[in-house]
Amino acid sequence: MIRASAYTFKILRFDRKEPGDKARFQSYRVRIIPGLTILAVLNRIRDEIDGTLSFRSSCRSAVCGSCAMVINGRIDLACRTQAASFGTDTIILEPLPNMDIIKDLVVDMTRFWTMYEKVKPWLYRSGPDPEKEIGQTEDARALIDQFVHCILCACCYGACPVISRDPEYLGPAALAKLERFVLDSRDERPRSALNEVNSEHGVWGCDTALKCIEACPKNVRPTDAIIDLRKRLFIDKARQFLGIRK
Ligand code: SF4
Repeated sequence: MIRASAYTFKILRFDRKEPGDKARFQSYRVRIIPGLTILAVLNRIRDEIDGTLSFRSSCRSAVCGSCAMVINGRIDLACRTQAASFGTDTIILEPLPNMDIIKDLVVDMTRFWTMYEKVKPWLYRSGPDPEKEIGQTEDARALIDQFVHCILCACCYGACPVISRDPEYLGPAALAKLERFVLDSRDERPRSALNEVNSEHGVWGCDTALKCIEACPKNVRPTDAIIDLRKRLFIDKARQFLGIRK
């Protein structure tokens, strides 16, 4: 027989629409069975205990990236984290850092999307649209594989120590996406396109603290992308200095 155990969920509550509201923790006691995810618990709290609780979710399968949050101090997706996996019966849930709270576990992702758009995250072609699909070899596809897996959950953005001191920093997700297109055999953006990230708010802002890699639920390694972009810029500079034409 599967036994249910009582857990305490301490959830950060805040509503920016309420004048004078202060962030505080509210506790909910819930009986859960092993295997239940944090997202399932949140759904139960909202459906059965407190309908005012706010959080984002959609796919329940670590595909949509909506339910990113801080779970007992670790950034992860609520849908892929089991409540019983922490070895404690008290679970603390907080919204992602580096973004303003809208309500409870829902954060304002405007800046994340603004930074994302800045790297022009789409396949760039110099000529007219081709008549048919552009082919790609298996080896060429393998090069971009890890970056294609990004679900834009912003776990890396929340974990990044640079964003907390430099809100203009592009951030790990945007730079990893740029690398995805730079490596894509079908992309024709000019090398000069990298000049837009050649600054302390771009690739040179990264502390290489590797927090983004630690936080990513899809095994994307944004720091590797940033280091590769730095190398490309450095090689371009060296070529210019030596008068070598491409
Ligand atoms: Fe999420 Fe990883 Fe993409 Fe960052 S790189 S947005 S953590 S999937």
